Formats: sequence, structure tokens, C-alpha cells
Amino acid sequence: MNGSGLWHAQHAWLGRAAQDVLIEVVDGRIAAVTERVGAPVAAVTLKGWTIPGLANAHSHAFQRVLRGRVEAGAGDFWEWRKQMYGAAEWDPPGYLAYCRDVFREMLAAGITAVGEFHYLHAHGNALGQAMIEAAKDVGIRITLLDACYLRGGLDGRPLEGAQRSFSDVDAERWAQRMDELQDAPGVRIGAAIHSVRAVDPASMRVVAEWARHRGAPLHVHLAEQAAEVEECVAVEGCTPAELLEREGILGHDLTAVHAIHLDDGDISLLGRHGVTACACPTTERDLGDRVGPLRELAAAGCPLSVGSDSNTVIDMLEEARGLELDERRAVGRRVLHQPSELLRAATSGGMRSLGWEAGELKPGMLADFVTFESATTRQNPLEAGFVVYACSARDVTSVVVGGNAVEIK
Ligand SMILES: [Zn+2]
Repeated sequence: MNGSGLWHAQHAWLGRAAQDVLIEVVDGRIAAVTERVGAPVAAVTLKGWTIPGLANAHSHAFQRVLRGRVEAGAGDFWEWRKQMYGAAEWDPPGYLAYCRDVFREMLAAGITAVGEFHYLHAHGNALGQAMIEAAKDVGIRITLLDACYLRGGLDGRPLEGAQRSFSDVDAERWAQRMDELQDAPGVRIGAAIHSVRAVDPASMRVVAEWARHRGAPLHVHLAEQAAEVEECVAVEGCTPAELLEREGILGHDLTAVHAIHLDDGDISLLGRHGVTACACPTTERDLGDRVGPLRELAAAGCPLSVGSDSNTVIDMLEEARGLELDERRAVGRRVLHQPSELLRAATSGGMRSLGWEAGELKPGMLADFVTFESATTRQNPLEAGFVVYACSARDVTSVVVGGNAVEIK
């Protein structure tokens, strides 16, 4: 991911629409961005609309095997979870091959960085390392958010069935295993507290301390289901967000995934600490999750990001518009987030959450950019509203990661 070269975009998104944009890349980073210039002979020409690389801030690659298979029958989140546990057993070679496929699909959708929220520990670090190898093989950036997962619920009940293979027994052993994983070009190691259900307060502190000592991103599943909040209030006497505050977990480096069942106090806590909220609308719809207060979170000071989560759908623009459109139906109003804010969630918001200096086309940033070309791009001016509402993963024609063009077809 240390490529150099020249690209000339017909239209490019620089936080605003720009035309005839020359992007100069040196050693994987953007060296210069110049508007309204012709294409030098040496430049690669990008027809259509070029935007920063998309960031998938929350993914569980293995869950793509459930695509299309769990839509018949009935049930709720907890029924779905049983089916998901049935897909959690992998051997390292099989997982390497599978993840290559998933990551190729992500790259073809314009995703240049993925955050893998990873808790499959039956083989120690082998499946995490398989994901890192798969990402390197296909050329996508990966932030491996390795999750601590220790118990079956807030009452301290033990893990059952497949859950047992997610556990390191205690947080100290989780941290020892994490110390064996290293950052590398295109690879960042991050930490995750699976949820307030699965990690006790003392262990949460160990995970957060590990992340902060390393300067690594920290993620947590937060308040996806009402039952988690009820159990937390019953056992800890406070909401999950308040528990994270009490234990010193909230901070700018934290991403709260889902963040659905929040009260006003939770929203202002998360906002005050600058916690990133990550919405996963296509998965949340699929699982029958409610709609989170993203407008209020953004107003309180939370940067937004989006994730493909279960990977039934892999299209960050669908996640970005889903964030807005789901909320419209929940509150009965339109345009709760401006299109440029939604585009930011899918690019710089997610990149920041994953620890990458990317997501904007400006000098100094990692040279990740994606081009869309379709009837829409030919017939309309470049505007964030058209990108978010009229483009999809299928319109991607070119993907550059760290100054290297990636094969996407
Ligand atoms: Zn998740």
C-alpha cells in the first residue's frame, strides 16, 4: 500500500464537488490535489465521480454465510443469534479462503478499510491471523478489533455452547494473546469489549487500558437490545452507557456499535466524551432491531460511522442512506442528516473509528479513493445527495488503496 502515481478525476468529492481534479500520490499518501487542470499523459483517467475510500466500521465476516439462509421461519434477535452461533466454527485454512472472498466483495463495493469485530477464538489467534492474511492478499486495509468475551450475561452466568470458544477465560489472558498481534502496513490491531453482557467491569478496564496503552481503537456493542439495558439496570443499577462511564471506558477512541436503546442521559454522556456511534442499518433491519437516536447523538457531539455488520448486504451507501431513512420512519420527519454528513459517516467517520488517516481527498491523507460511473453519474451533477441516494456498490468502477489500483472484477 505504498503506491505512487497520478490520477485525474472527471468529478471528485473534496467535501464539495470539484471538477478535473488531479490527485498526486507518493508512497501511499496524497501529495497534492489540484482542481480544474487537464490530465497529464501519465495520469490514469477516472470517468464519473471519485470519492474517498469507504470505511466499513463494523463487520463480522463469517456471518456472511447466513446470507439468504435465515430469512424464512420466524423469531427475534435472540433466535437469530442461535442460528449465528451455528456458523461460528471454522478452521484456519477454510477461514482464510472465505475471508478472501468476503474482502474481495467489500473492495468491489468501494470499501478500502474494514473493521473486523472478531471473537472467534477456538484456535487462539489463528483465525484472526487468517483474516489479516486474507486482507493483505486482496489489498484491503483491516483493523482487527479483537473482542474480549468472558460470560453469558450480566448476572455472571457461564458461557454456553459455541460461546465457550469465544472466551479467553479472563481478561489477562485476552491481553497476553493480544500482545502477540502486531500492526503492519495495512493492518491495525484494535480492541473490543464485546458488550456489557459479555465482559465484567474489571475486565472492561483491562481491555480499555490495553487499547489506550497501545493507542489502538476500542469498540463495544452497546444497547442493541432492550433486554441488555434492563439486565444492566437490574444488576448494576445503571444503563450500559452509564456503566461504561463509571468504569472509565468512554472516550474519543471508543466506538459504540448500534447505540439504539439510549435515554437522554446516555446520549449526552456519549456526546460529551466524543464517542463515535456506528449504525448498521441493513443488519439492524434484518434482526428486527429498533432505530437508534442518531440525530440526537450527532447533535450531542458523537461522530457517526456505518458498518455492514452481518454482511447480508455489503454496500456502505445503502448503510449511509439507511441510517437516515430508517430514522425518518421512526420519527416522522425528513432530512435528519444532511447528505454530506451521511457521506462523511461512510468515509472519514469510519476511517477515524478504525484508526486510519483516510476518508478525505487532501494532502497528507492515505491515498484511498473510489470511482462510481453509471447513468446517474452521467446525467447529474456531483452532489452528496446523488452519491448517497442514487449510487450503489454496483456502480463502482475503480478502487485505489494506498496508491495501488485494486483489481475488482
Ligand atoms: Zn456486531
